[in-house]
Amino acid sequence: MSSQTIPTIDVQKELIDGKTSLAGQWALSWGEWTPLADIAASKANFKVVLLPNFVSSIVDEKTLNTHRFGTYTLKLNNLSDAFQKPVIRMRNVNDAWQAWWIDESGQSQFLGESGKIAKNYKAQEVSFKTHILQLPQNVHSGTLVVYLSAHLYKRGGMYGEFDVQEFESANKFLLSDLASRSVLIAIGLLVVFQNILFYIFRPKERVLLLLGILAFSTLLRATASAEYVYYFFGNPAMYGFLLKLEYITIVWPPVAAVHFFSCLFPTKRSSQVVKIGYIIVPIVIMYTVLAPLKQVLEHLLYYQVILVIFTLYALWLIINSMIVKSYRSRTMIISGLFLFLGVVNDVIAAQSSSYNLFIAEYTLFLFLFAQTQFHSLRFVSALDTAEHLTNNLQHEVAEKTKELSIRNLELEDKADYLKIQHDQIKELSETDHLTGLYNRQTFDSHLDLKFYQAVQKAEKLALVMLDIDNFKKINDSYGHQVGDECLKTVAEFLRQSNLRKDDFVARYGGEEMVIVLTNTDIKGAEEISQRICDGLSQIELHADEGTIVLTASFGIAELIYNQVENTTQLLKLADDALYQAKSLGKNQVVTAEVSS
Ligand code: GH3
Ligand code: MG
Ligand code: MG
Repeated sequence: MSSQTIPTIDVQKELIDGKTSLAGQWALSWGEWTPLADIAASKANFKVVLLPNFVSSIVDEKTLNTHRFGTYTLKLNNLSDAFQKPVIRMRNVNDAWQAWWIDESGQSQFLGESGKIAKNYKAQEVSFKTHILQLPQNVHSGTLVVYLSAHLYKRGGMYGEFDVQEFESANKFLLSDLASRSVLIAIGLLVVFQNILFYIFRPKERVLLLLGILAFSTLLRATASAEYVYYFFGNPAMYGFLLKLEYITIVWPPVAAVHFFSCLFPTKRSSQVVKIGYIIVPIVIMYTVLAPLKQVLEHLLYYQVILVIFTLYALWLIINSMIVKSYRSRTMIISGLFLFLGVVNDVIAAQSSSYNLFIAEYTLFLFLFAQTQFHSLRFVSALDTAEHLTNNLQHEVAEKTKELSIRNLELEDKADYLKIQHDQIKELSETDHLTGLYNRQTFDSHLDLKFYQAVQKAEKLALVMLDIDNFKKINDSYGHQVGDECLKTVAEFLRQSNLRKDDFVARYGGEEMVIVLTNTDIKGAEEISQRICDGLSQIELHADEGTIVLTASFGIAELIYNQVENTTQLLKLADDALYQAKSLGKNQVVTAEVSS
């Protein structure tokens, strides 16, 4: 190292040139924290280097590996002529540092520090990278001394931005930076919210969810690296947490991006890559959370390797989609162009020692925003179509419902009409049109049914058969019409003779009628028959030729009493009894005898 004069910057002259940057020649004592007194007494050993720059490019390889720390010095002239409240603004210096000011009289003053400096890089404690250091007021000139901690990487050293400014304008700068960060975070929030909301309404569109997740992971990164927020409000203890979050979000967003692109442009293997990504991400998160911060910082390279691999794979998916001419790739290329330019810029900025503007984060958000708007347009047009279809459908359904209700009313009318007709036909087919009593056919099936039921339940069942006496004579004497009237009268009398609901009267044929008495024993049947027989004989029918007195003869048989086996037998027994009643002089009731 050679001893020279410490480089001086004429602040006022620089200001006239419109520059406030402290970039340029600085004194560097490499591998040494030169005492302030030595610097004030111009006894320091240093070499002149150009800043900002990485140490790797300004010191030799040999000392780079052994020293790793140093003292940076710069003299500032004409300070009070240029500024009322001068401040030094330091930004993006990764390693810990400590800044001092030596005035013209050799008095030193502590300006501020970031983290805790150490000569062993493992012992240093890093902290927020952005600081505003207030210089003493009304001081014409002095020396700025920065002790830089041992650094982690070859990129270590004073390669961040640092300049001298008026206090107000530095604050304004901070505020505008904070504002642009806030816009970024707001866009991120909007994108996340919009995609999640759309996804809730359209769970089939998984690409929306993936876009939301990608935006969320990127948002976390943007928030974690938004140092200004913490410069104003943050607790230095939070720095470790934020740094870990920043490291986690080196790995997560590229995996989320691969997932998103593999959903848009799937290939044979893309889902496997996504799976691998989602195995790696939780492992990285766990490691980052659990491992000591310093160890995590040392492993930055591994994080970057994962970042590069997944970013390249995402790029490959896009390129592949262009090759196979996917229909979505055109919008992807347009919005991807922003992203690409941003990444190229950042690669240049990362390699350059003098250009430090990183914009990839912003362009990534622009890309996400453009993608979200593109997908939301598709979503909205799908909604429009759905609404249109729903409206049409509702209209058609209403029309059809109206038609159907009319048809329904018509059918109901028809059904009523048919029921009436059916009832009429049924009545006609079941009854005898002259007397209105059930006809022979209905009687036969009714008797069959009742007989079967009675046998099943071991109940009694009586059958009464009656025949009008001397009916031929009535016909002959008064004419057929009067005969018919007589038949109607007898039928009406039977109907009115207080039979039970279950009992059944039918015209058996000619002037013969039958009564089926369910659950009635022989005695009951005899009583009923006798009552009807007596009642009938009371009736007088007036005709032109005189008064007609109607009588009838009755024959009774009962299922259990007569030990009957079938309906034919029951009918025969009743008929026989009736015949007996006739031969015994008519107008009487005869019960079939029990066969011995
Ligand atoms: P008995 O006392 O022995 O029964 O004498 P009867 O005159 O009633 O004898 P028979 O059973 O032989 O006569 C039945 C008559 O009933 C014959 C038939 O002309 C008449 N007849 C049958 N059906 C009807 C009908 O629907 N209307 C009229 N007016 N007469 C009928
Ligand atoms: Mg008769
Ligand atoms: Mg007869």
